[in-house]
Amino acid sequence: MIKLEAAELAAKIKEAVKTEIERGIRRPGLAAVRVGDDPASAVYVRNKIQACEAVGIRSEHHALPESTSTAELLELIATLNARDDVDGILTQLPLPAHVSETAIIEAIDPAKDVDGFHPVNAGRLAMGRPVFVPCTPAGIMELLDDRGIEIRGTNACVVGRSQIVGRPMAQLLLQRDATVTICHSRTRDLAAVTRTADLLVVAIGRAGLIGREHIKPGAIVIDVGMNRVSDPDEVRSLFGAEAERRLEIVAKRGATLVGDVNPSEAAEVAGMLTPVPGGVGLLTVAMLMKNTLKAARLRRQ
Ligand code: NAP
Repeated sequence: MIKLEAAELAAKIKEAVKTEIERGIRRPGLAAVRVGDDPASAVYVRNKIQACEAVGIRSEHHALPESTSTAELLELIATLNARDDVDGILTQLPLPAHVSETAIIEAIDPAKDVDGFHPVNAGRLAMGRPVFVPCTPAGIMELLDDRGIEIRGTNACVVGRSQIVGRPMAQLLLQRDATVTICHSRTRDLAAVTRTADLLVVAIGRAGLIGREHIKPGAIVIDVGMNRVSDPDEVRSLFGAEAERRLEIVAKRGATLVGDVNPSEAAEVAGMLTPVPGGVGLLTVAMLMKNTLKAARLRRQ
């Protein structure tokens, strides 16, 4: 089985953004908004800010307290929408339960919606005229293209129907002439459906749920999931030969990252698999840089 590592491609995408900024586009600006103390969100935002620094995008981090109301957040979004030096706005999800995620997403100017979550951008994508595509599925398409993986005519299955991954992923594959099936928590006999897929994209948020019985021999499997596991037995059942190294990580950091695909079982049947970490996650940040550059370019045309 081939591991579809993404580090090199992610670096290449960021390098291309950096070069274009150096060639003279006025420095793009990205505003990241985070509410509350979720440690995972803090890490994600930090990674995005670091990536901005590396490619030459000006960034600002608005870290607001958990108690922030929808109205207060809407006020900040309105200010960012109005500022000429802000080309891209991202609100790190999930927001606290008392904040209306829909209201916030819909308040962002679609021209600055570098996450591609605004209904205008989701609608454009669904109509086959995308402008800003959500970063994770956009990164997956870059990876498939970079490796010369054929999409046209292929049987593709997307497990998960979230607005940020599953749905836009299915749209992108459909646009490239794949025959697309979308599965979710109500799908009857998930394995029977996923086993028909030449290309299987999994975004569900359940550690190692997709096992050997879900995968067609030779299939290309894209694992979007990012889950933390700390139970040593679970680590052993997921990682096979790699378990000892992962157990060392658990001992050191309290947990290790695993996707939605059981990597040791997938290795027995899949043709290709994206690793976690080292796969899709790296591309998500790279695509955010690319979308921010695109927003800056489009706003100045
Ligand atoms: P989400 O909004 O929670 O959606 C999960 C989807 O999976 C839902 O559509 C749900 O079905 C489906 N699902 C849940 N359990 C299932 C099961 N047992 N069988 C079949 N389908 C099932 O999650 P998300 O935001 O798309 O994220 C999914 C995973 O990707 C998470 O682990 C997240 O951390 C990760 N992620 C990674 C990146 C990255 O950059 N690598 C980016 C985004 C997300 P229903 O619709 O029926 O509830």
